[in-house]
Amino acid sequence: MQILNTNVDLIIFDCDGVLVDSEVISCRAHAETLTRHGYPISVEQVFDRFLGRSTRQAHLEVEAELGRSLPDDFHSQLRDELFQAFAATLAAVPHIDAALDAIAQPVCVASSGSQERMRVSLGRVGLYDKFAPNIFSATQVRNGKPAPDLFLYAAAQMDKSPHRSLVIEDSIPGIAGALAAGMTVLGFHGGSHCRPGYADTLRAAGAMMTFDDMRELPGLIERIEAMAVPG
Ligand SMILES: [Mg+2]
Repeated sequence: MQILNTNVDLIIFDCDGVLVDSEVISCRAHAETLTRHGYPISVEQVFDRFLGRSTRQAHLEVEAELGRSLPDDFHSQLRDELFQAFAATLAAVPHIDAALDAIAQPVCVASSGSQERMRVSLGRVGLYDKFAPNIFSATQVRNGKPAPDLFLYAAAQMDKSPHRSLVIEDSIPGIAGALAAGMTVLGFHGGSHCRPGYADTLRAAGAMMTFDDMRELPGLIERIEAMAVPG
């Protein structure tokens, strides 16, 4: 039997919109909090402008436009609102448990969100312990997505080559960051925030393949491995 050289040594999952179906909740909390502080913005505008980026970078942009700082307790207000909404309504992405059980490679998380946010969100849906301690946040690197820093950091922490790491992402900045890190990306568009045609957007951004049902993921990983050069 011929043994093929596997080219996937690590699967890096984005968190929001890939593991937890959090983006609608998150964009709503963000829009409401910003609007309350004199920056009127709709849920759709938050989605288009800030999805997949760190809140720190998003707020620097808002402050530059406003020409003033957001209040000192803005982040804690947003966090409180978001965590209350998570506790009430957050759900895991359907079938993620079965997908994780079927994947043989090591897995980790690389998210623009804070460690605290991931403890709350992944903890709420029972996924935190499946990944801990391999849960990495943009707060641990200099530049968040779309920079490659977080993905390179995650691969280094997992002691794997970026070129043999596969990223599962649902956002344009996330795909850009993974590509800049030299990684292959699969675009997931099964989150409840994803609008018709979003798969095309993910492919145009550089996703090798797209899917909207986590039950497809183990088979897609096998397909990518089968493309590897025999070693
Ligand atoms: Mg995401």
